[in-house]
This record gives sequence, structure tokens and C-alpha cells, in this order.
Amino acid sequence: EREEPHYFGAGPALLPTAVLQQAAYDLLNYQGSGLGIGEISHRSKPATDVINQSKARLVQLLDIPEDTHEIFFMQGGGTTGFSSIASNLMANFLNRKGKSGKAGYVITGSWSQKSYEEANRLGVDTEIIANAANARGSNSTKFGTIPNVDSWSNNVSKDDTAYIYYCDNETVHGVEFQEFPFEKYEGIPIVADMSSNFLSKQIPISKYGLIMAGAQKNVGIAGLTIYIIRKDLIPQPSDHKLLIENGIPITPIAFHYPSVIKNNSAYNTIPIFTLQVINLVLENLITVKGGLQAQEDLNRKKAEKLYSVLDKYPEIFNLPVEKSVRSKMNVVFTISGGEIKEGIFLKEAEKRYKLTGLKGHRSVGGMRASLYNAVDTTSVDLLCKFIEEFAKEN
Ligand code: PMP
Repeated sequence: EREEPHYFGAGPALLPTAVLQQAAYDLLNYQGSGLGIGEISHRSKPATDVINQSKARLVQLLDIPEDTHEIFFMQGGGTTGFSSIASNLMANFLNRKGKSGKAGYVITGSWSQKSYEEANRLGVDTEIIANAANARGSNSTKFGTIPNVDSWSNNVSKDDTAYIYYCDNETVHGVEFQEFPFEKYEGIPIVADMSSNFLSKQIPISKYGLIMAGAQKNVGIAGLTIYIIRKDLIPQPSDHKLLIENGIPITPIAFHYPSVIKNNSAYNTIPIFTLQVINLVLENLITVKGGLQAQEDLNRKKAEKLYSVLDKYPEIFNLPVEKSVRSKMNVVFTISGGEIKEGIFLKEAEKRYKLTGLKGHRSVGGMRASLYNAVDTTSVDLLCKFIEEFAKEN
């Protein structure tokens, strides 16, 4: 039991209380078996059922075309996601084209920046497709915009580029893509990090080569990454000599997509309790929340409410992100008066209404209110009420 929290943390994040209650029960005594879900073999029937049920629910929620796309789960989070993408997809390009290729990166915030740096660190030949850090004058906040697609690099083609990578929602900087912007790169596989907005809205799955999401925001607790990959992008079991000759990073076996897929996500020990939490969140989304469209509509309303109250007081609240690319998941703002006022804001929010988790990421400071699926309208309303009060008092 717990009092319903008004928690706006960016991740790990709030989950529905009913899901956690069921998960707690499953951890102790799964389906009356006398054993907890975390105590049984990852190859047993109950574990396999959890894997298959989670996949089926993802198919249902996202309308995933199973003839073209494959779903799998792997230990890790967003970082194992972007590291493994670089090595697996470079190997796949070698399989498809018989030569090594390069990888394009769209940089719109710290997560795409880190993914780009990781690809370089692994020795991948990278090309910056667009960099939002260069798009703004030197006096303004570094990130907070998405450069116009017309200005994106034309220096890539399907014959030399293994994939184009971007982050659909930048958790730290609060920048979110509002639509699929890659029409001009026809033929190049598009890869998205959706760690912080996966299952917050509908996704045109068939347009994507690969979607990756760490679980610990909308989908569950930390420990697993969800992947949806177009089948022709799964690399072949590697010929290491060929990879080395072509300067392509070798993927550690636990993150090697063909090995994981061939074993239905249980090549090695999948954290099945973590997956059961995901499974329960998916069930909750279908049966309690009324599906993805209902959740998307609700998320839009929550974000509109919060942005509109912040916009009412421009002399107090500063929103660094351009309106057209504002995130519906992570609302970032600073307060005039700097850290002292921000400290008061945080303290009073908690004291008056038990609003917590509002402190911005350590790298950028300020405030961040994350409005993930489990954050109820009641919490958003309370936050808006508090913001009004704070504005009037200041
Ligand atoms: N990508 C995005 C968009 C994220 O928000 C995060 C983490 N918050 C990551 C990647 C990295 O995830 P992890 O800490 O699970 O490696």
C-alpha cells in the first residue's frame, strides 16, 4: 500500500501502483506456484510465457508488422542500446553490401550526443547529419531546437550509410520530434532511441529500421531494453575475421542481436521479473488506460496544461525549448532569480502538495517535470496550481 505519489522524476520513473502491487505479489508467489517469478529458470514455461505475452502485447499496442519486424529484449538500458546498435548494424551493413559503411547521427541533445560519441569510440565511421548545438547563437542555451530538415546533410546514401540514428525524445533537454522527419533519406535504415517516450504515443513502426527503448520510464523498471528491428537488419552470425578486416566493432555475445533473437530473448539469463513488470505495465495500458491512442491523448492534454501555465508567466519561468519541438514527456524550465528561487520552488512544492522529482538534470540545472504515462492528471493539476501560487507570490 502507498499514498498516490505526485512524482515527476525523469527515470527511473513512476509506475502505476496497481502494477507494482501485482508485481510484488508475483515476486513472492507467481500464479500460486509457491515460487517467485525471479526464482524460476529463464527457460521454464512460465518465463517463456512472460516473454511471449509481452511481445504479443507490444504487437497489439503498437500494431507491429510481425512479417517485417522482430521484437526482442536484452539486459541493459539506453546505453547498451546505443552501443549495441552501432556494432550490430555496422556488421549488418557488411553482410548486405559486402563492404563497411558509415553511420549518420542527428544530434539534438545530450543523449544523441552520447550515442554519437560512443559510435566514434567504437571505431565507427560517423557522419553528423545535423547538430542542434550549432543551430543556435552562442549566447543561447545549447540545445532546445531541431534544425530544419532542409539543412541536414546530403552526404549520405543507402549505398554508403548503414543507418541514421536519432533520439526521438531528449530526456535531459526536453526536445521531442513531433513527426517522422526522414523522408529524404529513403532507403537508409532509420534508428530511434525512444527510451523516454516509448509507448507515450503511436509510432509508424514500418518506417523504422530499429527502435530501441530502455524500460525504466514509461514501460517498467531498469534492467531491460526493448528492441523492434526490421528483419533484414539483423546481422548474420559474425565472421570475426571479416569484421576485423573491415574495421567493424565486434559485438559482445550477450548483446549480439542474432544470438539473442534466435533464443527468443533468452540467450543468457533474462531478468524475468523486470520483464514481468513490463508485461504488467503493457496489460495496464491495454485494459485500464484504454490503449495507446487514449494514453497519447491524455499525455497531450497533460503537457498542454503545464506548458500553458508556465507560458503565462514569462517574467518568472523561462522555457529554453522552441515551442514547436517541446517534449510532452520532459518539461524543462528555469526560474528567474536562479538557484535560490529554484531551491524555494522545489522546497515549497514538496511542502505544500508533496510534489517531488522536479529538479533538473545535473548537467543543465533548472527544473524538469517529467509527465510519463503513470503521472496522473491529478498530479499535473496540483503542479499547475502550485506554479500559479508561486508566480503570484513572486
Ligand atoms: N537514452 C535516453 C533518451 C535516455 O533518457 C537515457 C537515460 N535516461 C539513456 C539513453 C541511457 O539509459 P541508461 O541509463 O539506461 O543506459
